[in-house]
Amino acid sequence: ADDLLAVHDLRTYFYTEDGLVKAVDGVSFKIKKSEVVGIVGESGCGKSITAMSILKLIDPPGRIISGEVIFDGVNLIELKEDDIRKIRGASISVIFQEPMTSLNPVFTIGDQIEEAIMLHQGLDKVNARKKAIEMLKTVGIPRADEVVDEYPHELSGGMRQRAMIAMAISCNPKLLIADEPTTALDVTIQAQILELMRNLKNDLGSSVMLITHDLGVVAEMADYVIVMYAGKIVEEAEVVELFKNAKHPYTIGLLQSKPVIMRDEDRLNSIPGQVPNPLHMPSGCYFHPRCSHAMDICRESQPELKEVCEGHKAACWLYEGVI
Ligand code: SF4
Ligand code: MG
Repeated sequence: ADDLLAVHDLRTYFYTEDGLVKAVDGVSFKIKKSEVVGIVGESGCGKSITAMSILKLIDPPGRIISGEVIFDGVNLIELKEDDIRKIRGASISVIFQEPMTSLNPVFTIGDQIEEAIMLHQGLDKVNARKKAIEMLKTVGIPRADEVVDEYPHELSGGMRQRAMIAMAISCNPKLLIADEPTTALDVTIQAQILELMRNLKNDLGSSVMLITHDLGVVAEMADYVIVMYAGKIVEEAEVVELFKNAKHPYTIGLLQSKPVIMRDEDRLNSIPGQVPNPLHMPSGCYFHPRCSHAMDICRESQPELKEVCEGHKAACWLYEGVI
């Protein structure tokens, strides 16, 4: 009942000239009110496409072929473009890696942020402008009182990224979807942005869907973690459980491949092997060509995502029958 978002059996496929790519293949998860859910995986695992599907931002040759996205009691998949547009940038706002997808090139930065503030916080024009400048300062934009009157193309890439974050946060969304929000930013700004997102959650009760390949960010920010591999969820648990007690060999590989704040040495082991070619997926468990535990059954049959201990799920034959 306290779920803000419930995604059920989402499938988004791409019908490319070379063949069918099942970018998101039967993904289900929930985000509670005020919860930060981290979605982790290597690039190409389907985490960004999952976010775009929630907002119905999938263009041909991509298509959402099935599934439900229940947000605040409404199935977004069934909404018409006009209705979903009212939700985007309002009750759900997004920070993408590429800010030009969210900023409107024909309005100044200030106009865009002020509009969101007036609409969602009921401030008048003068106070909305003050607040907009304050937001721009908060995300680390120098000469904010000038930038407020500039157009997106007048800003550098990094500054645009920050302006977009200011805009996304200033509308007080119920759900903030952040796709690699800090990847392109320097460490100081990164920390500030994460702090802003934390305040949003604590002060306004916003939920956050945090998409990242950075397990350090996840460890710091997320309440619950979902690990994706090749379009499917392979493991999920609360953050402490996942970091302490990872079950899936892929998750274990990810944890060993990144310097995590819980470790004092910065060793970098990458997981051997490559992400599979989406046009030629392996049989059985998609991870088997890279897995040092692979058994015969792993090559033959795909494991289902199942509870492996209380509140902790994994899709791996190693845990068959443990619960
Ligand atoms: Fe490895 Fe088999 Fe588990 Fe897949 S199902 S992760 S191949 S042990
Ligand atoms: Mg991505």
